[in-house]
Amino acid sequence: MITCLHCEKKMTIRYRVNEFADTFCRDDCYEKYYEENDIKYTDHFHPYIDDYEAMRRVFLDWSDHWEEELIERGKNFQSSSYMTLCSMKGSHSNNICIIQ
Ligand SMILES: [Zn+2]
Repeated sequence: MITCLHCEKKMTIRYRVNEFADTFCRDDCYEKYYEENDIKYTDHFHPYIDDYEAMRRVFLDWSDHWEEELIERGKNFQSSSYMTLCSMKGSHSNNICIIQ
Protein backbone atom coordinates (compact mmCIF):
# COMPACT_ATOMS: atom_id res chain seq x y z
CA MET A 1 0.00 0.00 0.00
CA ILE A 2 1.30 3.41 -0.94
CA THR A 3 0.75 6.14 1.62
CA CYS A 4 0.62 9.88 1.18
CA LEU A 5 3.80 11.68 2.20
CA HIS A 6 1.79 14.57 3.63
CA CYS A 7 -0.94 12.93 5.71
CA GLU A 8 0.03 9.24 5.64
CA LYS A 9 -3.39 8.16 4.41
CA LYS A 10 -3.70 5.54 1.71
CA MET A 11 -3.14 6.94 -1.78
CA THR A 12 -6.16 6.60 -4.02
CA ILE A 13 -6.96 7.24 -7.66
CA ARG A 14 -8.09 10.71 -6.56
CA TYR A 15 -4.50 11.79 -5.99
CA ARG A 16 -3.33 15.17 -7.22
CA VAL A 17 0.08 16.29 -8.45
CA ASN A 18 1.31 19.85 -8.10
CA GLU A 19 3.62 21.75 -10.42
CA PHE A 20 6.70 20.29 -8.69
CA ALA A 21 5.47 16.70 -9.22
CA ASP A 22 4.71 16.40 -5.53
CA THR A 23 1.75 14.06 -4.98
CA PHE A 24 -1.15 14.45 -2.57
CA CYS A 25 -3.67 11.73 -1.82
CA ARG A 26 -6.70 13.93 -2.65
CA ASP A 27 -7.75 17.54 -3.10
CA ASP A 28 -8.34 18.08 0.64
CA CYS A 29 -4.80 17.00 1.44
CA TYR A 30 -3.40 19.31 -1.24
CA GLU A 31 -5.37 22.31 0.01
CA LYS A 32 -4.58 21.60 3.66
CA TYR A 33 -0.86 21.31 2.93
CA TYR A 34 -0.80 24.66 1.12
CA GLU A 35 -2.84 26.40 3.80
CA GLU A 36 -0.93 25.01 6.77
CA ASN A 37 2.42 25.88 5.22
CA ASP A 38 1.18 29.24 3.98
CA ILE A 39 2.22 28.44 0.42
CA LYS A 40 0.62 30.32 -2.43
CA TYR A 41 -1.04 28.27 -5.13
CA THR A 42 1.14 28.71 -8.16
CA ASP A 43 -0.07 25.67 -10.09
CA HIS A 44 -2.45 27.79 -12.11
CA PHE A 45 0.55 29.45 -13.79
CA HIS A 46 1.82 26.14 -15.12
CA PRO A 47 1.40 25.99 -18.93
CA TYR A 48 -0.37 22.62 -18.84
CA ILE A 49 -2.61 23.15 -15.80
CA ASP A 50 -5.79 23.40 -17.87
CA ASP A 51 -5.00 20.15 -19.69
CA TYR A 52 -4.14 18.43 -16.40
CA GLU A 53 -7.34 19.60 -14.71
CA ALA A 54 -9.48 18.61 -17.71
CA MET A 55 -7.96 15.13 -17.99
CA ARG A 56 -8.15 14.59 -14.24
CA ARG A 57 -11.82 15.65 -14.17
CA VAL A 58 -12.71 13.29 -17.03
CA PHE A 59 -10.75 10.44 -15.45
CA LEU A 60 -12.40 10.90 -12.03
CA ASP A 61 -15.84 11.26 -13.60
CA TRP A 62 -15.28 8.05 -15.56
CA SER A 63 -14.00 6.28 -12.43
CA ASP A 64 -17.11 7.33 -10.50
CA HIS A 65 -19.66 6.50 -13.21
CA TRP A 66 -18.13 3.89 -15.52
CA GLU A 67 -20.72 1.23 -14.76
CA GLU A 68 -23.72 3.44 -15.57
CA GLU A 69 -21.91 4.73 -18.66
CA LEU A 70 -21.27 1.22 -19.98
CA ILE A 71 -24.87 0.17 -19.36
CA GLU A 72 -26.14 3.27 -21.18
CA ARG A 73 -23.74 2.77 -24.09
CA GLY A 74 -24.81 -0.88 -24.27
CA LYS A 75 -28.44 0.17 -24.57
CA ASN A 76 -27.60 2.63 -27.34
CA PHE A 77 -25.49 0.02 -29.11
CA GLN A 78 -28.28 -2.58 -28.98
CA SER A 79 -30.81 -0.04 -30.18
CA SER A 80 -28.65 1.15 -33.09
CA SER A 81 -27.71 -2.43 -34.06
CA TYR A 82 -31.37 -3.42 -34.02
CA MET A 83 -32.35 -0.49 -36.23
CA THR A 84 -29.47 -1.18 -38.61
CA LEU A 85 -30.54 -4.82 -38.92
CA CYS A 86 -34.15 -3.79 -39.57
CA SER A 87 -33.12 -1.26 -42.18
CA MET A 88 -30.93 -3.82 -43.94
CA LYS A 89 -32.98 -6.99 -43.72
CA GLY A 90 -36.49 -6.17 -42.73
CA SER A 91 -39.03 -3.57 -41.98
CA HIS A 92 -39.74 -1.79 -38.75
CA SER A 93 -43.33 -1.30 -37.74
CA ASN A 94 -44.77 -0.48 -34.31
CA ASN A 95 -41.42 -1.26 -32.63
CA ILE A 96 -41.38 -4.72 -34.19
CA CYS A 97 -38.66 -5.69 -36.62
CA ILE A 98 -40.00 -7.88 -39.39
CA ILE A 99 -37.21 -9.82 -41.10
CA GLN A 100 -38.18 -10.79 -44.62
ZN1 LIG B 1 -2.60 13.07 1.87
